Amino acid sequence: MNVLVINCGSSSLKYQLINSDSEEVLAKGLCERIGIDGRLVYQKAGCDKETTEAPMPTHKEAIQMVLDALVNEKTGAIASLAEVNAVGHRIVHGGEKFASSAVITDEMMAAVAECNDLAPLHNPANLIGINACKELMPDVPMVGVFDTAFHQTMPAKAYLYGLPYEYYEKYKVRRYGFHGTSHSFVSKHAAEFLGLDINHSKIIVCHLGNGASISAVKDGKCVDTSMGLTPLEGLVMGTRSGDIDPAIMEFLAKKENLDIAGVMNVLNKKSGVYGLSKELSSDFRDLEEGMNSGNEYAANALEVFCYRVAKYVGSYVAALNGVDAIAFTAGIGENAGIVREKVCEHFGYLGIKLDAEANSKRGEDMVISTPDSNVKVAVIPTNEELAICRETVALV
Ligand code: AMP
Repeated sequence: MNVLVINCGSSSLKYQLINSDSEEVLAKGLCERIGIDGRLVYQKAGCDKETTEAPMPTHKEAIQMVLDALVNEKTGAIASLAEVNAVGHRIVHGGEKFASSAVITDEMMAAVAECNDLAPLHNPANLIGINACKELMPDVPMVGVFDTAFHQTMPAKAYLYGLPYEYYEKYKVRRYGFHGTSHSFVSKHAAEFLGLDINHSKIIVCHLGNGASISAVKDGKCVDTSMGLTPLEGLVMGTRSGDIDPAIMEFLAKKENLDIAGVMNVLNKKSGVYGLSKELSSDFRDLEEGMNSGNEYAANALEVFCYRVAKYVGSYVAALNGVDAIAFTAGIGENAGIVREKVCEHFGYLGIKLDAEANSKRGEDMVISTPDSNVKVAVIPTNEELAICRETVALV
């Protein structure tokens, strides 16, 4: 069957049409500047990208343009919309209500809307995308796949903050974790690729992209992850601070005369390796280049990033009471050999040995530890769209 995978942001929408039997991507692209002016990027498999500027006042017009492009006589990937058999929607926050993907119904959408408070920028946009698809394709079954669902297996000791318990009871303030679709996909695929039995395995997944998170996965289930109530907690990221002393917020607010929104803006958009490198870049390609040409701030940013990753990996070895495999994924994890090397240097005591030649490659499934390494280390490219497609097929 053909599954249309939709990932809606507040002013953008990414899509892929995937044949679930061959798992081939038939077409993909994105709509940008929805509600501003509007631009559609469309690419049929094996063809060049096409860009069309056209007004997209709402997500409905954007999705209509995607559907028109998919069935276009000359460049379409399918002959008619009857060939779209299901739609899989990425939904950012499922709160405690969704521990797995769910078929989209009115009740399900009402439950998602109840989680809007927890992801005010993302969940409403996800719901707008679902409503637009329902209007344009009323008879096509749809499934919601949540970023938070995979982490719902975390025990209370991992998800509770050291805050008054009533905030958990009243407002559900707790750790949820994100990138769950990726952590689930990569942990399963790593086990398969490395010949481990997922039901008897201890795997640490390092999803290192512009947003970055780590998870500890025992017997296929998440037992801890680095992001929290929001995707700001945990690792030092592209522009996000990750863990800091919470008292820094008051200190900075007073010194810089900032209100809470101003402080949050600094922590989300001006921090991470971008802030540490004195705004050189949030991109690791630029940081590596900066470091190689003697920029000490770029070098420091890289060191801080890698050290934080290593500290989380170490703490998850404790959470799992051992580790069979460490999997690196996402833009940095898949491409930056230097990051993998600097992280693994901290685990000599575990008997981890990296194969320098294997680690110099990038972007494909590969083992980067030596055959005599006590723990297997691998690069496993993530594929969230394919994971959403598989979940959708399983439910419809
Ligand atoms: P993602 O959020 O997973 O798309 O990852 C995006 C990030 O991956 C970029 O901001 C870069 O920091 C990093 N990245 C992408 N390609 C490379 C590369 N070839 N070498 C090092 N880092 C890369």
